[in-house]
Amino acid sequence: MSGHMENPVISLKLLIDQEKNKVVFAEAGEDFVDVLFSFLTLPMGTIVRLLETHQKSKSVPIGCFNNIYASVASMAMKHFSSQASKQMLLYPGSLNQDKCQKTKLRIDDSQASKCFMCPMFVRSGQCSKEYSNFNTSRCSCGNLMNEIIQFQGEGGSGGNGGVFVRSSAGHTSFMISDDLKVEVNSVVSTLKLLNGLGYPNCDKLVEMILDINLQEVATLLECLFTSETPLTDTFLKKKSSCGIKRMLSPPALIEEEEERESKADQTITLNAYVRKKEGNIMYVECGEDFVDLLFTFLAMPLESVWGSISGNGIVLGCLGNLCKSFKELSVVDSGREGSGLKSVVPHYYKCHEKQQQLLDVLVTIHKPPTYYRFVSFSVDHYREYCLTEKSDKRLVYGWDKLLPVTCKDPKSEGNNNSAGFVKKGTKFMVTDDLIITPSNSASVLGMLKDKQISLDDVECRVICIKQVEVIKLLRASLVSFSALSTGLLAMESSSTSVPESRFYKKPKIET
Ligand SMILES: [Zn+2]
Repeated sequence: MSGHMENPVISLKLLIDQEKNKVVFAEAGEDFVDVLFSFLTLPMGTIVRLLETHQKSKSVPIGCFNNIYASVASMAMKHFSSQASKQMLLYPGSLNQDKCQKTKLRIDDSQASKCFMCPMFVRSGQCSKEYSNFNTSRCSCGNLMNEIIQFQGEGGSGGNGGVFVRSSAGHTSFMISDDLKVEVNSVVSTLKLLNGLGYPNCDKLVEMILDINLQEVATLLECLFTSETPLTDTFLKKKSSCGIKRMLSPPALIEEEEERESKADQTITLNAYVRKKEGNIMYVECGEDFVDLLFTFLAMPLESVWGSISGNGIVLGCLGNLCKSFKELSVVDSGREGSGLKSVVPHYYKCHEKQQQLLDVLVTIHKPPTYYRFVSFSVDHYREYCLTEKSDKRLVYGWDKLLPVTCKDPKSEGNNNSAGFVKKGTKFMVTDDLIITPSNSASVLGMLKDKQISLDDVECRVICIKQVEVIKLLRASLVSFSALSTGLLAMESSSTSVPESRFYKKPKIET
């Protein structure tokens, strides 16, 4: 294994039209395509975090997602149900994390998910028979559950071949167009692409071989949202074209959903403060249920957020092209289900019945595995234990008991399971562009004052949120800067470019 490589690079061959200073296409191996595909498996919160670290000054906002993320970062710990709740939103976990770690250039620096248990687990009879994925959970005996669990038979194989790329067909070379359509490299596909772009042959094209590094991968991730020519922007111009081009087609976005066979009867009710004249929502007042829902958006992989939009005539950078290639060329793994629209998020994102039902068309919440503990009484009173994923009897010769150890909800500090991210009973205020703050009358009045709006110009409307509204809200969060008005009132997104004021301050992450 090449784990010792400090600064890995991936080699890439570009075919360039020198006259136009433009990449026509790139030739690359599985390693590069895996990196591109890994982008789509990243949770939205991770993308926001990575881009904000990558961009030293201004960051290109990904719709309203930067604001949701910044709201988590700046909200005081006392409003969260537990320390882990904030942590899992700032550093979202994903079921594809292991895979992403195997890519050659790993953009996501998050730690792989671990399991912890109480250090007293073996000795104390008082300990709850639970493990946690966060070392901040507390055992029923009062201790922190901070002992890392080593599993039997841990340490999987490195594995050759593609991580996300389906490699069974033995493809080793791919061609990637400037707008990120990925195809298996062949004479036919090359000619087709060249012809399509108006090049009768390769005469005018120059080859350039590059070793690309993590820095360039981050630029590429940014360009995925902002550019229609990410390869040219990243490798020839060395920057992303900052002007976000959004071809919002409002009719498609607001089009009434076919009445979905909705089994969900759960709804969330909000008080929306709407400007009478303009008709846009200034902010909504809501309880923890709506905030839990918005915060869950951060855990959703890019692919499924885009999946809720695609086919609606909306173009956002090259996302559509890359997602299409991903569906065609990637392994169908456990992280995706059926059509690929619905993704699976880790079990600890489960909040309450309402959240699960309302998000059901978009994500499935993974079921936490139950592990087994072996306890031995064989050598005097000496007890030993180990955990394994399966109740595999072959391992247990000499062990007396096989006991299940279940998963603890790291969000709940008490004994009640399945808590939300934020504390129950708190009231929140959410602005049109999804800045979320615990509300008090001062913040509301301050805001009206700031915007020089008199109370007479504002009316309160009650809005009821069902599954359909959740989908609309998610779409609007990605493609507009007025998610509430666009998603809930079907207002045309007021702008197609990034308003200056939307460069929300970089969040200071307090943990
Ligand atoms: Zn304990």
